[in-house]
Amino acid sequence: MTARKVVVQKYGGSSLASAEKIRSVAKKICDRRAAGIDLVVTVSAMGDTTDDLITLAKSVLGAGHVPDPREMDTLLSTGELVSAALVAMAIRSMGYDVVSLSGPQAGIRTDTTHGAARISEVDTGRLSRELAAGRIVIVAGFQGLAETEDITTLGRGASDLTAVAIAAGLKAHRCEIYTDVEGIYTADPRLVPEARKLVEIGYEEMLELASLGAKMNPRSIELGAVYEVPILVASTFDDKPGTLIHGEASMMEVRKAVTGIAVTRNVAKITAPALPDIPGVAADIFEPLAAAGINVDVIIQSASAGGKADISFTVADGDLERALAITKTSRACADHNVMGGRGYAKVSIVGTGITNSPGYASRMFRALAAAGVNIDMITTSEIRITCIVESGQVEKAARALHQAFELQEASAG
Ligand code: ASP
Ligand code: MG
Repeated sequence: MTARKVVVQKYGGSSLASAEKIRSVAKKICDRRAAGIDLVVTVSAMGDTTDDLITLAKSVLGAGHVPDPREMDTLLSTGELVSAALVAMAIRSMGYDVVSLSGPQAGIRTDTTHGAARISEVDTGRLSRELAAGRIVIVAGFQGLAETEDITTLGRGASDLTAVAIAAGLKAHRCEIYTDVEGIYTADPRLVPEARKLVEIGYEEMLELASLGAKMNPRSIELGAVYEVPILVASTFDDKPGTLIHGEASMMEVRKAVTGIAVTRNVAKITAPALPDIPGVAADIFEPLAAAGINVDVIIQSASAGGKADISFTVADGDLERALAITKTSRACADHNVMGGRGYAKVSIVGTGITNSPGYASRMFRALAAAGVNIDMITTSEIRITCIVESGQVEKAARALHQAFELQEASAG
């Protein structure tokens, strides 16, 4: 007795931006169905619909008013409903049995955090019944139902998350994310023309790249890793193979130490010089920042000299003024000359091969030096080494690292 193979697909907003594109997506879904696969398909809102709905809400309210979070979620959820219904109609016109479901109808249960709800459960009853009845199921992404029976949304770009959660719930064969890029690259091809598409990448590596700005929702990678859902990222409108994100253990490719180079722009730096080297100083600085919801990234404290130490840290560009004001008035910094500035970027090498192997940091620093790039700050995780550099130098830095770690070569396997 063999269960039929279930595949969960997701199509992004740019793949559904017009009637014509919706028809091509529908055709692609029908072709797959014709090959004997059971399909659940998650869709995003068409094109810039979500942004347009946000703008609409703002213009209805006028300046100085903040939209009610519950109503905002009801409003934003409509974008995905439109796509789901239209894709289903197109599929039916091509002669296949199909049903569209909202997130709540598809059993997506969430907590009550409007605008950034977390999925608590996927109740797969309805999905399984529709599949058993032989239907293709189209699910509106990005939304769910809270215990309060209110509609929630999962956060910007979170249709991926709906797809991976459904794949996990149904124990699907795999989840396929179709988008406007051909897969995951060793670096952003706009910055590094030599970048090459990866055949496969591990969850952990992908999580680092996604957190550093690669075009995938990091929460969906995390979920995929926990439930071991293989995730294929591929282009909607061609049949090229794409990149498979899956467990390190099942990777075919001989592990290269460095899998990719990531670049994040718009980094700002704050420095509080010559603070007393006593307990409580760091807590005094970072508690008020955390309370204000400011995300602090790299933190560096210099070695203590003469009972004094400098603390530097980075924040997103857009948070600089607020973070600077809070830091200046924090108890620890009151009498100190706190400085802040924009114009930094992060360049990182990412790869599971970095774990416990010496030499990667020094190779990275040497390559940056040879390219004439000055390193401002350095930070590492198990599978990543990150340097903060001047933003004007980040492109040169990324290309130098791509070359130094030989990422442009065709890989074995
Ligand atoms: N439509 C939502 C957004 O634009 C969700 C998504 O695209 O994944 O954020
Ligand atoms: Mg979108």
